[in-house]
Amino acid sequence: VLNVQSPAEVERAIQQVFGHLLTDIESVGLFASLGRMLASDIVAEQYVPGFDRSTVDGYAVWAADTFGASFATPAMLSCRDGASIGEKPQPLEKGQCQYVPTGGEIPQGADAMVMIEDVEDYGDGMKYVLRPTAPGRHIGFRGDDVSPGKCVMRAGWKIRPQDIGTLAALGIQTVAVRKKPVVGILSTGDELVDIHVSPERAQIRDVNTYTLSVGVLSSGGEPVRYGIIKDDYVFIKNAIVDALRECDIVLLSGGSSVGTLDYARQVIEALVLQYSDSKILLHGIAIKPGKPTLISSIRGKPVFGLPGHPMAAYLMYKTFVSPLIAQMMGHKEEHPTQKAILSVNIPSNNGREELAPVKLSEKAGCWTADPIMGKSGLISILSEAGGYVRIPRDQEGAMANTEITVYLL
Ligand code: AMP
Ligand code: MG
Repeated sequence: VLNVQSPAEVERAIQQVFGHLLTDIESVGLFASLGRMLASDIVAEQYVPGFDRSTVDGYAVWAADTFGASFATPAMLSCRDGASIGEKPQPLEKGQCQYVPTGGEIPQGADAMVMIEDVEDYGDGMKYVLRPTAPGRHIGFRGDDVSPGKCVMRAGWKIRPQDIGTLAALGIQTVAVRKKPVVGILSTGDELVDIHVSPERAQIRDVNTYTLSVGVLSSGGEPVRYGIIKDDYVFIKNAIVDALRECDIVLLSGGSSVGTLDYARQVIEALVLQYSDSKILLHGIAIKPGKPTLISSIRGKPVFGLPGHPMAAYLMYKTFVSPLIAQMMGHKEEHPTQKAILSVNIPSNNGREELAPVKLSEKAGCWTADPIMGKSGLISILSEAGGYVRIPRDQEGAMANTEITVYLL
């Protein structure tokens, strides 16, 4: 029998034992930094842009030269040849104007731009400004985007395409990021075959190797697959020991319950005795699906015994493992959510928190969540699901037509 703990207690236990784990720092090129977690703050050392520039196509002027200008009485300015974009212009004198394209540098002396639409040209070498401008108008100033000393991204930040743009603007070519936690994945079960095999008799294809591997990838970790392991004490123990040598985290799926062929607990107990800095944190979580989950620390490394049911294994991965992988890179993972109206009641009174998969649909900005009823072993239910609802253990289900939070999958 399992001595179950609440999901909140499980999170606390994980924090307490593994909260200090942090992978090493490595330096990667800018392109390779996408999706990685910053190891330190990025503080600008330069101005972006490095000069005052025009935000329109038009003429740089002394704003005071245009005061009082109108269609009836345009301001007449002598037009000087402009610099090409990307080149430094000569200073502009009072009474002069100069063409500057969008992004071109404002000549020294000029303090405003007039848009090309507000200027007439009668071919006499002069420009006639039909509307006044004001100091600073249509100018992007040096450092408007970023100035030296500004912290543009914090340590732990997950780098997105626009962040790579900011780093490029600052001329940052390599980025210090946290190494990806290496996560070993072992599928246990005598009934499992690899996906290229046609299952015979009572065999089934190994799903967890696939869902957990790509789950690890999308969490920012690096999966290492140890394949299918027979329900055998020695095989499982050896596979875990191999994985512990090469990995930062080990995920075992299947055999985590208390049946005769369930070896996870026995093997973990033996490893706890064999190695220092090892213990079982918990065995049993008050959550459905996912009750027979075992969490241990072997030689200071997290070793998870996940349930074999593919949906349970994946949801336990998402709930407890994925945040830990992120945290080991200094990143706080936020599970994306969506508020939605529940279409029908979800009954639940089994004394455990329930993770209920739902379909999501949107109409005129209003989201609806339709529960998908089914057994926890069925992976296809998760393919249909846009997310799941968490129904706390002390709540007797969720009521139709109420707003609920959907955890997106
Ligand atoms: P277990 O946790 O080993 O008792 O397995 C529970 C259920 O999940 C059984 O029906 C297993 O056949 C199934 N199962 C276990 N591991 C996998 C896997 N890797 N892929 C698909 N189904 C699995
Ligand atoms: Mg099994």
